[in-house]
This record gives sequence, C-alpha cells and structure tokens, in this order.
Amino acid sequence: MSNSEVIWNIRPHHGLCVQHFHGEGYDEAFVAHMTEMVAALNRSGTWVRLTEGADDICSACPHCVDGVCEDEAKVKRFDSQVLALGLLHYGDVLTARDFTRRLRHTILYQNRMGEVCGDCQWAWICQQ
Ligand code: SF4
Ligand code: SF4
Repeated sequence: MSNSEVIWNIRPHHGLCVQHFHGEGYDEAFVAHMTEMVAALNRSGTWVRLTEGADDICSACPHCVDGVCEDEAKVKRFDSQVLALGLLHYGDVLTARDFTRRLRHTILYQNRMGEVCGDCQWAWICQQ
C-alpha cells in the first residue's frame, strides 16, 4: 500500500450490502454515511480489512449500541456465510475492488444470496 491509499474495516457481509445500496437505510445519517462508504469503496486505492464485529459502516448505524450490533448473532451468521462461500477469512486485507469482485463471482452470479442473508429485512430489495 502507498501513502495515498486508505484501508477500511469492513465486516464480510457488508461487501454484499454496498453492491445493493440504492439509498435505503435505517435513518438519514446512516444513509449519508453509507453513500460515502459506497463511493469510497468504488475508488481505486481503497483497501478493506475483513473485520469481526462492528465496522466502519456500523459506526453510523442506530442499531450499533456500544460498538455492538443489536442483531449481532444474525449478522455474524451472514458474515460467516460470506467468508465460507468467498473462501475468505477475518483479518484478510485486499483491495475493495477485488473483494466486491470476489463476492460477485462466488455469491451473486451463483444465485447464493438467499443462503447468506435471505432473512434480512432488506432482502426483498437486494434479491430482486
Ligand atoms: S444493522 Fe448491525 S451490522 Fe448492520 S450496519 Fe447496523 S450495526 Fe452494522
Ligand atoms: S439482504 Fe441485507 S445483508 Fe443481504 S445484501 Fe441486502 S442489506 Fe445486506
């Protein structure tokens, strides 16, 4: 990595969420933050570190209480599925582009979204 590059802590399933984001979210502040994160992750020179627990997206979420997701057990299951299907591990560092490309090839194009987060409240949007 060069000095001009940045690295974000991202929990694995958020690699899918950012690819389906169309402006919906929990509140205005979260949507604004998510919009910035999606733009940042689409820029070249952006890296991600796969993070266990709350990440740089959760930091603006109203459901992140004292640094822990209110629905941690459920989203941790989403994360585990993404790691398993994407052949990835917590702590992996890769470019944001490689990360999202890998999830497209191993999950989206294989029609495996339902196995990851079929019971998410936003699934009716993301799985259209
Ligand atoms: S719902 Fe949970 S995992 Fe999703 S952004 Fe909010 S705190 Fe993070
Ligand atoms: S269904 Fe939920 S967890 Fe899955 S990509 Fe959409 S917002 Fe993210």
